[in-house]
Amino acid sequence: MNEQITAAQINDKGHLMIGGCDAVELAHQYGTPLVVYDVTQIRNQIRAFKRVFEENKVDYEVSYASKAFAAIAIYQLVQAEGGHADVVSAGEMYTALQAGFPMENISFHGNNKSREELLMAVKNHVGMIMVDNFYEITLLSEVLEELDETANVMMRITPGISAHTNKYIQTGQVDSKFGFDLQSGQADEALAKILANPRMHMKGLHAHIGSQIFELAGFEGVAKKLVEVAAHWQAKFAYQAEIINVGGGFGIRYVKDDHPLAPEQFVDAIIKAIKKEIAKTSLKMPAIWIEPGRSIVGPAGYNLYTVGSRKDVPGLKPYVTVDGGMGDNIRPALYQAQYETVLANDPQAPAVEHVRIAGKYCESGDILSEDQALPATKPGDVLAMLDTGAYGYSMASNYNRNPRPAVVFTENGQSQLVVKRESLADLTRLDQPYRQ
Ligand SMILES: *Cc1c(COP(=O)(O)O)cnc(C)c1O
Repeated sequence: MNEQITAAQINDKGHLMIGGCDAVELAHQYGTPLVVYDVTQIRNQIRAFKRVFEENKVDYEVSYASKAFAAIAIYQLVQAEGGHADVVSAGEMYTALQAGFPMENISFHGNNKSREELLMAVKNHVGMIMVDNFYEITLLSEVLEELDETANVMMRITPGISAHTNKYIQTGQVDSKFGFDLQSGQADEALAKILANPRMHMKGLHAHIGSQIFELAGFEGVAKKLVEVAAHWQAKFAYQAEIINVGGGFGIRYVKDDHPLAPEQFVDAIIKAIKKEIAKTSLKMPAIWIEPGRSIVGPAGYNLYTVGSRKDVPGLKPYVTVDGGMGDNIRPALYQAQYETVLANDPQAPAVEHVRIAGKYCESGDILSEDQALPATKPGDVLAMLDTGAYGYSMASNYNRNPRPAVVFTENGQSQLVVKRESLADLTRLDQPYRQ
């Protein structure tokens, strides 16, 4: 029995439903591997984050960290829910532009924004540039001068707080490639430069301490640290921060040992921590911004695969191979990420064996799941891997020249294709012949 699948998600045929659509039918209609999102779940998650700010009458923005899943349709969905979006490249910015997303609601992040990217951001009046380093301050002032423009900026600092999480996805510790260091005085030096530039409108400060965080302590710590910095800046520079942005990283449940907190609990703790610290200062209560990525799209996503070959060796755990793998979800190979998988045509069928779910890519490390209890499966069965909505499709590749999968949105029993499956012709679209 899988605890994540509720009775309401099973139809009268006993099949898994996603957004009211039969997962087996989706697999047949759109083909596999297929990425499916339950739109209602995404909407509810954004609303859950927003609700607590509204109940507390705190100025806020929920900015979807779009690197978790970037496509025209998701920017449009986030816009429909009144969210902002973070982008980290010209490509994400371009996708948001194509989606008609209001550029004033975009924040541009990155530790090595190029001149071209900054030009694009300023020309399109991106709402916030999250300044990360001294090189960027110089580049941005040149770009603003060249275009005779101004820009809103926030400063990313390294708060010296490490989230209790995998080292590949933690970013807040002192020795990090992201943001200005506090201890050495670099953040103060950067602020002086920004304040001295009339083209930069300094709006506040930002920190992001990592990802897949299950504890409140990290967020409370970062909230406290950011208010302390803001108070120090008020004393030293007479500068009043308007926004405190505590980043994203809210953990989700992938497997049963994960015990995530609800969005409400995270937001509530952040608001309380900031209010408490602000009360110790003469600062005005700032707006609070958060940047959830994974927690907005992760739990809403499902990867559907079709079972193919199987390898049984006496004494070893069997390999059940599917028609996708590290090309559509590299997280298991990259950082031993774990997921739960169910048989789409009978998600609650009792397990009869533990198997490895292997991908079809030519790497021994291309194992989607090292240990999954499953009922008996046969070629042609559809497997649904759960909670794959974040950093799966967005990290997809064409390794082995496999086309990237299609993406489908489901909502209230309706499905719609939002990203087409790549064709074989797409794979050679950019190739040029060798001229001897
Ligand atoms: C990746 C990232 C996020 C989102 O992290 P999640 O773990 O997906 O919530 C938020 N802010 C910044 C600056 C990021 O780089």
